[in-house]
Amino acid sequence: MAVKKDYYEILGVSRDATPEEIKKAYRRLALKYHPDRNPSKEAEEKFKEISEAYAVLSDPEKRKQYDMFGHAGIDGHYSYEDLFRNVDFSDIFRDLGFDFGFEDLFDSFFGFGRRRREGPRKGKDLYLKVDISMEDAYYGSNKRVKVGKYESCPVCNGTGADGPDAIENCKKCQGTGQIQEVTGNAFTRFVRVMTCPLCRGTGKNILRKCKSCSGEGIVYKEKEIELKIPAGVESGAMMRVEKEGEAGVNGGQPGDLYVEINVKPEKGLERRGADIYIRKWVSYPVAVLGGVVSVKLFRETIEFKIPPLSPSGSIIRIEGKGFPKRLGGRERGDLLVEIGISVPEKITPEIREAVEKISSALEGDSSLKSKKTWFKNAFKKI
Ligand SMILES: [Zn+2]
Ligand SMILES: [Zn+2]
Repeated sequence: MAVKKDYYEILGVSRDATPEEIKKAYRRLALKYHPDRNPSKEAEEKFKEISEAYAVLSDPEKRKQYDMFGHAGIDGHYSYEDLFRNVDFSDIFRDLGFDFGFEDLFDSFFGFGRRRREGPRKGKDLYLKVDISMEDAYYGSNKRVKVGKYESCPVCNGTGADGPDAIENCKKCQGTGQIQEVTGNAFTRFVRVMTCPLCRGTGKNILRKCKSCSGEGIVYKEKEIELKIPAGVESGAMMRVEKEGEAGVNGGQPGDLYVEINVKPEKGLERRGADIYIRKWVSYPVAVLGGVVSVKLFRETIEFKIPPLSPSGSIIRIEGKGFPKRLGGRERGDLLVEIGISVPEKITPEIREAVEKISSALEGDSSLKSKKTWFKNAFKKI
């Protein structure tokens, strides 16, 4: 299969085009390629292409999917029918003066006429982006998220009818969903089997519509879903929650819910794979003589020893305190603490005296002249 062209390119608009610009671009191209104007095969192909691009880019939700995942976010997640379901082409075509209705048009182009509506169809997948804290990513968490979606109407169980006695077998097709049209003459007979136009192939007609869903069989509902976010999850990870997408049609399976995880950055802490980098400021005496200090890591306070003669930029590795190496796994990376040497907030006479003493004691110490790595390390950004 040929590589699919970019929807924005097809319509000739920029990626940050406004809905009005997208509509305008589509109108201009539709005028050029509409089959009423341009009956050629190439124009038909082109018309299909621009209509699909418009269907996606004019729908904020689908446009977001496309911006995030490209064609992969659209293909396989939406049937052609889903793509065009909520797009109102009629006002555009009416404006342009075409009387060839968009339904006929798309039926003939894409073949998703009423015939296709018979069988069970899987519900739409839903996408959601969820922000979590670094702490939640560290320990793992259960997060409740709200998902707005179409679900099978609980009042009529998705039938769309106001009770079991409100459905009858279709009289036109005797409940078969199909009718036969016979044409011909004395010698030849053509039998054409067509989908029953009255019941649209379902074999059933609804006498009174369900009041809760107005006969649609589906209702819009906000539902809370608990997500089990495993420890170690990284930004951009995609979680799939089976069957929490939209309701299926005609008894089809519900779609799935995809949740993209965004881990919010935490000040003063950097994640590198499974390791965590933080910086600990210590006083000059501690750096020279060594000592025990502590750092706070989320819900834990970790004590560790600083060895004597630790220059600024020294890194102390505390094993097993990083993120899990595998999602939800027990084995963890390390906590790497970079030592920085702090200075006092102000100079008191005592401090001046003490520091001047240190200064004279250090005169002639070779470490101050040598180009040791401490200089590089001290200014390393973490
Ligand atoms: Zn209902
Ligand atoms: Zn029928």
